[in-house]
Amino acid sequence: MRQIAIYGKGGIGKSTTTQNLTAGLAELGKNVMVVGCDPKADSTRLLLNGLAQKTVLDTLREEGEVDDLDLIMKRGFGGIRCVESGGPEPGVGCAGRGIITSIGMLEDLGAYTDDLDYVFYDVLGDVVCGGFAMPIREGKAKEIYIVASGEMMALYAANNICKGIQKYAKQGGVRLGGIICNSRNVDREHDLLNAFAKELGSQLIYFVPRDNEVQRAEINRKTVIDHNPEHPQAREYRHLAEAIENNTQFVIPKPMTQERLEEILIEFGLMENLKDNYVI
Ligand code: ADP
Ligand code: SF4
Ligand code: MG
Repeated sequence: MRQIAIYGKGGIGKSTTTQNLTAGLAELGKNVMVVGCDPKADSTRLLLNGLAQKTVLDTLREEGEVDDLDLIMKRGFGGIRCVESGGPEPGVGCAGRGIITSIGMLEDLGAYTDDLDYVFYDVLGDVVCGGFAMPIREGKAKEIYIVASGEMMALYAANNICKGIQKYAKQGGVRLGGIICNSRNVDREHDLLNAFAKELGSQLIYFVPRDNEVQRAEINRKTVIDHNPEHPQAREYRHLAEAIENNTQFVIPKPMTQERLEEILIEFGLMENLKDNYVI
């Protein structure tokens, strides 16, 4: 069983990409579980076609205890097992703790069955704190992919996430499997992401184009593979699924200094204007 955590800046496309690529893995006949680790609880919506999924923490609050796996796990597209951790009431409690409560409960209720090929943890935003590092900190997810784009803030976030991974990788077996580019149609984005991933000692595992079909599918509460299986974007997600299935490159990332990151950005033209301003 491969346990994989997906990190990346908020809004970069972690949940969309995770659901579309797991739909691709399900098509390949893989048994998959997706565990949403974001208080927003929108990590499995497209797999469940919008079916209301009660979060683990909400169920706990209402029932006191949970003794039935069916209360917190629903089957979605291709039989994918869908769980949402949920979060504490806003302003109260630790969202990171909620993740570990959910994982503990899944373990107690026997959700990690031997037939599972993959478990994906779709984790909120950046590794902003120890709480959101839980899936890797507790040694659950050993494999990480970072979703990024050619936008500067996405790369800053990805580099920061690598600092977190490096720390846990040295203590445990956590490894970076690669960078997934979710394109924002930035100039020379493919080359930039390639150079960025290389500098980290990793790889650009796949370049997902930006396509409005993703939004059209989303409005219909579906992944692209479910909504329009013949669409070229569905093929892209299948290829991403295959790239992950066949991946053999797992590394301890080497995060770069701010200066080096800026150098790379300048090299690929992203900060040209800024550079000119500095010179002046
Ligand atoms: P995150 O989980 O990282 O916060 P989401 O997966 O919710 O981000 O994505 C944010 C928005 O970006 C979604 O509304 C989604 O439709 C859109 N999106 C993601 N990937 C693509 C893509 N490849 N092409 C077009 N739109 C995309
Ligand atoms: Fe919030 Fe993170 Fe602190 Fe938990 S560990 S309370 S999630 S900042
Ligand atoms: Mg999300």
